[in-house]
Amino acid sequence: MSAPTYDLGKLHGGLRLQGHKTESTAMPIQQVPVPKMLAMPLTQHVGNPAQPVVAMGESVAKGQLIAASEGSLGAPVHASSSGTIVAIEPWPVSRRLGANAPCIVIECDGEDRAHPLPDLLPDFRELEPAELLRKILEGGIVGLGGAVFPTAQKLMQAATCDLRFLILNGVECEPYISCDDMLMRTYAREVLGGAQILMHALDLDLCYIGVESDKPQAIQRLGEEMAELADERIILKQVPTIYPSGGEDQLVQLVTNLEVPTGGLPSDVGCLVQNVGTATAIYDWIVGGQPLVSRITTVTGDGVSKPMNVLARIGTPIADIIKFAGGYTKQARQLIVGGPMTGKSVTTDRVPLVKATNCILVLAEAPSVGAEMPCIRCGNCADVCPVQLLPQQLFWYACADNEKQLRLHGLTDCIECGCCDLVCPSHIPLTADFRTAKARIQELADEKARAERARSRFEARNERLEKEHQERADELTRQKESAKQGGPEMIAEILKRKQQEKDDG
Ligand code: SF4
Ligand code: SF4
Repeated sequence: MSAPTYDLGKLHGGLRLQGHKTESTAMPIQQVPVPKMLAMPLTQHVGNPAQPVVAMGESVAKGQLIAASEGSLGAPVHASSSGTIVAIEPWPVSRRLGANAPCIVIECDGEDRAHPLPDLLPDFRELEPAELLRKILEGGIVGLGGAVFPTAQKLMQAATCDLRFLILNGVECEPYISCDDMLMRTYAREVLGGAQILMHALDLDLCYIGVESDKPQAIQRLGEEMAELADERIILKQVPTIYPSGGEDQLVQLVTNLEVPTGGLPSDVGCLVQNVGTATAIYDWIVGGQPLVSRITTVTGDGVSKPMNVLARIGTPIADIIKFAGGYTKQARQLIVGGPMTGKSVTTDRVPLVKATNCILVLAEAPSVGAEMPCIRCGNCADVCPVQLLPQQLFWYACADNEKQLRLHGLTDCIECGCCDLVCPSHIPLTADFRTAKARIQELADEKARAERARSRFEARNERLEKEHQERADELTRQKESAKQGGPEMIAEILKRKQQEKDDG
């Protein structure tokens, strides 16, 4: 086995936060039973919503395709248990914008019948990389670290770059979340198998697995499996337990000492980052024929009776998962989907578990935040910003709705980690303001793109009309020329046709 190495780059800023992880890692991963009903959102990924390929009343089996990928950026959705389609309608979901989204609702029959497996691949190494990438696309796999970018499309984009390293992200730096830690402890072999598939698909021969130093059991299990696998191309790297060392750019910096340029991607410095859960999902699909129909999620917080990690089907109502974890405590006050720093508060537990759900956090009471005060320009926020932004300046430009300065000061590079909020003595909700400002900028960009498309359509129409007009004029000239040689009957015919055209407008 390659021993974990420590020759790391440095992370700018960041915070050492209380982990709150031991509560949910005391017992092995528990399997949530098949629920009565599953709500499968059509948008669980970045890109176009998937398009339903099933109808009301249709019977479906576990693993069956129920919504196909649409356009150049998207991911398919598969039934996560067997049953009957009872609705295709808006349903409460957890997401930043809006409360409802179209879902396919399955009434489960409890049999958990599996769809016949696709032709299993005897060995992925026999496939050409392009074929393997196409295959990954069919598995409905998206980035499970939270970004939910369709994995196959991320790989296809990366394949066009000069890649040198694959980096598996086993750094789970946000407090309370422990699903990747438990995944690495329990499915270390599958994580490594996923790394080998990814290396083959991208023709790479070096993979770093970055794991935080506060996960000794995961490090040990990975080390044992690496020793058995004896694949020298895979190297384990421990990184310091600092939030947010698991951000893509931050992990690249820590593991390779390469800095992702402002506005750039890890592929600009030869790196492709994939979450360890995503690598496992790829392994399960390519080797086991199981599309992405379930995931491990952490259900934790003072508001849950038995904090734990569970393996649950995509589409399971969060209420069912909390019930499985012993239900709410009397103190439960706030339900968050995701972690305390980057998660989203929801007002109903009817929302389903989706591919992005890495944590269900129930807090006994919302953390008390003091009244917002004016900025005192202390600079704390800039000290902790892992992207080296100037949050106080960004805040000023966000208040002034100054899009140009927001762009110039790198708002789009903000990873919304929330570090600046935590250290601001004036209790300014900086991250929320940046999120709103980003959404506004995106809205303006969308409006601009729409206006640009309308302008192009208008110009194309004018060009076509102009061309038709010119062609008619040329034809008339040509006919006049021949009429000069053809006599009065032909002139009468031309005048008649001209009059006809006038009447037609
Ligand atoms: S931490 Fe708060 S008060 Fe201090 S400079 Fe930043 S925004 Fe201003
Ligand atoms: S939320 Fe954005 S601005 Fe604030 S510390 Fe994180 S990256 Fe920097």
